[in-house]
This record gives sequence, structure tokens and C-alpha cells, in this order.
Amino acid sequence: MPNHTPQPLAGVTALVTTGPTREPIDPVRYISNRSSGKTGLAIARSLVEAGARTIVVCGPTIEPAPAGVELLPVETAAEMREACAAALPVDVAVCVAAVADWRVRQASAEKLTRSAGVTTLELVANPDILHELSRPGPRRPQLVVGFAGETGLVLERAVAKRRRKGCDWIVANDLAAPGVFGGEHNRVALITAAGVESWPLMAKTAIADRLVDRIAGHVTDNHLVRHRRTECSAR
Ligand code: C5P
Repeated sequence: MPNHTPQPLAGVTALVTTGPTREPIDPVRYISNRSSGKTGLAIARSLVEAGARTIVVCGPTIEPAPAGVELLPVETAAEMREACAAALPVDVAVCVAAVADWRVRQASAEKLTRSAGVTTLELVANPDILHELSRPGPRRPQLVVGFAGETGLVLERAVAKRRRKGCDWIVANDLAAPGVFGGEHNRVALITAAGVESWPLMAKTAIADRLVDRIAGHVTDNHLVRHRRTECSAR
């Protein structure tokens, strides 16, 4: 683990979304995905160690939240969006959550039964939280980082996704690689305006540390902390 002393992100507020979301079908069933939340929680831990005030909006997971974060547990994408909006303004946002793309238009208040003969569910698209956070405006975080879990043409898709979503960086990974879901290791590429940087296979905790080191470098290079401090002292 890198030594973050003195803490390079002291004075910075970071928002992390992580985990899956759960979209109800009825009181007992839901649509979700295999995300464990491990990577996002590892990033949150590294952010805390680097001195950032760290708000974690976390979908359902059995993984423990690291000490020192402000944890906002949510279940659905709509709740995640609301919690993120309430957390603003933040300096840095890291969207790791595997947000369900769709929700059931009208979840049933009663448990659906086979005898009722339900064979189709009407789905509607969920809000894209990363895209919304990336929109230009006074409340846009100064650095917005998204994740892109892809299969097939991973890098090409991730490069296109960075542009489409409007975020600053994208961390891309190949979902077809063995052990990505719930495992301890991953191979990722960091995509910025400057290009694609492929990182070797690493522990998710090491990926988190490296990403947070990069975030700290960006903050320092852009005098983000000094800017914030000046703003505070001017109040
Ligand atoms: O479009 P896709 O789901 O592949 O994009 C992944 C990135 O977008 C991740 O950073 C994820 O957290 C974010 N995302 C989001 N809200 C959605 C869908 C994805 O914030 N509804």
C-alpha cells in the first residue's frame, strides 16, 4: 500500500458509487447483477487514506464499508441518483456502481403468482448517473471518473463511452476475463483525453491505490485543493 503521508487529498471531497442496484419486480423479486462492490469500496478506502472526505453511495453488498467513509446505502438506481444529487457539490466523483440499465415500469405491490399468468415484464431505462454528473455546469465535479465493464472490443467501446458519457476518465475492464466478478484481481486500462494506458493484472486494492494516486496527481496539477481552500477562506 503506498504511503499517502502527507495526505494529498486533504480538503477534497470525493463521491464514490459502488455495488449493484436492485430493481424490484414485486416484494420478493428483483432485477440485479453480479457486482460485488469490492472495487468501489477499495477505491473509497484509498481515498480516505489519501485524506479525502469520502461519500460512498452503495448498492446492496455483503462487503464491509471501509472505516472513515460517509456511507449512504441505497437499493435502486433512482435512490442512487437521489443520494448522489444530495451529496453535491463534490470535487471528485468516481462512478463504479453497476447500475441496472432497466427497472420494471410498475413493480407489483403483491407477490406475482404463476396462476396470474404473468409472462412479460415492461422495462423502462434507468437514469444514467455518470452521464448526469458529467454534464457541464456549476455543480459538475472537477474530475469525473467512470468505469466501463465490456466484452469484445473492450478498449474501443470504452474510448467511445468516455466521449458519450462526458466524463474525464474511464477505467475499462474485460468482463469476460475469469474471476472479475467477486474476485480479488483485475486487469484494467485507464482512458483519459491523452489516450489509453493499459495496467497489468493487479489486486483490486492495488488498482484502487494506483487510481487514487492518479487522482491525487490530477488534483495537485490542477491546484484543485488550493482553489477550494481559497474559496473557503473567502467566505
Ligand atoms: O453504460 P455503462 O453502464 O456501461 O456505463 C458504465 C459506467 O456508467 C459506470 O461508471 C457506471 O457506474 C455508470 N452508470 C451510471 N448510471 C447508469 C449506468 C451506468 O452511473 N444508469
